[in-house]
Amino acid sequence: MSARDPSAPSASLLDAVVTRHPDLPISTDDLDLYRTDIYYVSEHLPIGIAAPRSAADVVALVATARALGLSLATRGAGLSYSAGYIPGNARTLILDMTKMDAIIALSEQDRYVTVEPGVTWAQLRQALEPLKLTTPFWGTFSGLYATIGATVSQGGKFYGSASRGTSAESVLGLDVVTGNGEIITTGSAAGVVNSSPFFRNYGPDLTGLFLGDCGAFGIKTKIT
Ligand SMILES: Cc1cc2nc3c(=O)[nH]c(=O)nc-3n(C[C@H](O)[C@H](O)[C@H](O)COP(=O)(O)OP(=O)(O)OC[C@H]3O[C@@H](n4cnc5c(N)ncnc54)[C@H](O)[C@@H]3O)c2cc1C
Repeated sequence: MSARDPSAPSASLLDAVVTRHPDLPISTDDLDLYRTDIYYVSEHLPIGIAAPRSAADVVALVATARALGLSLATRGAGLSYSAGYIPGNARTLILDMTKMDAIIALSEQDRYVTVEPGVTWAQLRQALEPLKLTTPFWGTFSGLYATIGATVSQGGKFYGSASRGTSAESVLGLDVVTGNGEIITTGSAAGVVNSSPFFRNYGPDLTGLFLGDCGAFGIKTKIT
């Protein structure tokens, strides 16, 4: 565990974040762990780790980042090895998405499931098992903790992807918080008339833009 030096400039940044989000879990435990992924180690420690519980929390954190000039790095289970979420500078706040772990909707009839980004593939498999259903893409080799939001952000693929498609091909639509703090919905759920998320290609469809973006284009708060 590494505790932050209270005299460091990042300590005052963290204080400012905590002041703006008094009810949000924000931690400075294990900062050394959060500066690494499976392969890379950042030269910078994050200023802290915030754990949003809702899309509204994410929107509020984006507003804070804009106001304070912070970088946000979005992390799921942290099992990747592509420097996707490790701090790129000394003003980085990590968002731990694992507390957003609700299965929001499961439509047996229309064959779709909508989840928050911190839902794991294992959790999803468990929910679908009694219905004898599975998603075409069903998880990566990285184990029980890998999250859906992160996997689709990395273009995850695994055994079966040659015949059943990569993670991207299983995604019908997304909710994404952009750098402006707007929430955008992609896929057919974005339609004014038909708001069900069971088509991917529905007029101009931005879904693919965010699949494999490593979180650079926005923070996913819902995946169908
Ligand atoms: C032993 C091992 C085996 C693996 N096997 C495979 C495999 O078979 N196939 C494969 O594709 N990969 C594999 N991986 C790589 C990686 O673990 C997987 O891609 C995994 O699914 C990532 O999930 P995570 O929750 O750990 O992601 P993280 O490492 O936490 O994040 C991955 C990326 O997603 C971004 N991100 C996270 N959450 C969000 C969000 N809500 N919105 C936007 N961006 C977000 C992060 O910024 C980061 O860039 C493996 C890794 C290990 C260690």
